[in-house]
Amino acid sequence: MSNDSFSESTATLKKAVPLMIKHKVPTTPTNYALWYTYTSQQMPQLNVALDQGIKELGHCTPTLCDDLYQEHLASETDKDINQLKLSLTAMAQELSHSMAETLSDTNNFHDVLESTFGKLEGLNKEGLSIEETMKLVKELIQESKKIRQSTGSFKGQLNNAQEEIATLREALNKSQQLVNEDALTGISNRRAFDRDIESYQQSQIPFSLIMLDIDHFKEFNDNFSHLLGDQVLKAVARRLVACCQDYAKAYRYGGEEFAVLLPYKSLSSARQQAETMRKAIERISVLDKRSGERINSITASFGAASHLNNESSRQVIEQADHYLNQAKQLGRNRVLPLNG
Ligand code: GH3
Ligand code: MG
Ligand code: MG
Repeated sequence: MSNDSFSESTATLKKAVPLMIKHKVPTTPTNYALWYTYTSQQMPQLNVALDQGIKELGHCTPTLCDDLYQEHLASETDKDINQLKLSLTAMAQELSHSMAETLSDTNNFHDVLESTFGKLEGLNKEGLSIEETMKLVKELIQESKKIRQSTGSFKGQLNNAQEEIATLREALNKSQQLVNEDALTGISNRRAFDRDIESYQQSQIPFSLIMLDIDHFKEFNDNFSHLLGDQVLKAVARRLVACCQDYAKAYRYGGEEFAVLLPYKSLSSARQQAETMRKAIERISVLDKRSGERINSITASFGAASHLNNESSRQVIEQADHYLNQAKQLGRNRVLPLNG
């Protein structure tokens, strides 16, 4: 690493940590990599998205960090996620430790300089002996050697850290992505849903929830095939994701049930959003290769609810589920409640 890139990395590191503290971002490996990249301004689009997210959400939420990490820093490598997390955490800890040491050495050195220069000034006034002057100079040289050693080892660690961050951030998020991703449809899974709804509730971010369930899907599987059923699930997931705007996120909740979380959206705007999704699903068309028949009869029923003060996330889910069941009873392919 050249001196330039060394001093740049140090500067980046020194700026990233206070920013993370300011935004109350936990110092996890992924957040560390995210904010390091943010501070380095290597990916302008990441900076724009993070700034905008914080502005719109009012906080830097765990979901925002995760999403941005997924979107901007994830890529293809598979290594054991826990091992990666551990090594990145250890590395970050070691770095902050040695950074603290370097800083304290620098401060000591500064003190030594001050007092030595003070004494050297005295030389003019009082006339120090050659021995006394040499003693002062020796002290200075010794101190500066110490600080050089300490900065040198920090530089080595930083060098390794940079390389590791580059590889780890690729590998880490690939693995993390798999943990939160539904294997069939590729969208977020139930685990991600549980995490996100909890995080909205804890950060006191108002949100609405849409739950939907494909109509007569058992019959569809029986009439056509489970394989074609899988294709329908993928198509539904794609449509839902395409309909998501303004930080809304779609999840496969389980089987043929999906959920959408809409931060900062009222019940009425969630109902409208559900209506758009309902129509998008109605337009799905899949080809049954066995018979050559096109199937255009896929529909889903929707229930919506919004999070009110002091409600638990379970209550919101129950409320949306209640309306979903009502939508089924009233004849399916509809959104409930009708008002709100
Ligand atoms: P309703 O309109 O009341 O929701 O009827 P339904 O048939 O959709 O509901 P039911 O709960 O009776 O059946 C759900 C079906 O969804 C049964 C199950 O085989 C199917 N299913 C769940 N997961 C998958 C999957 O991963 N792939 C496929 N092809 N089918 C699935
Ligand atoms: Mg169901
Ligand atoms: Mg169903």
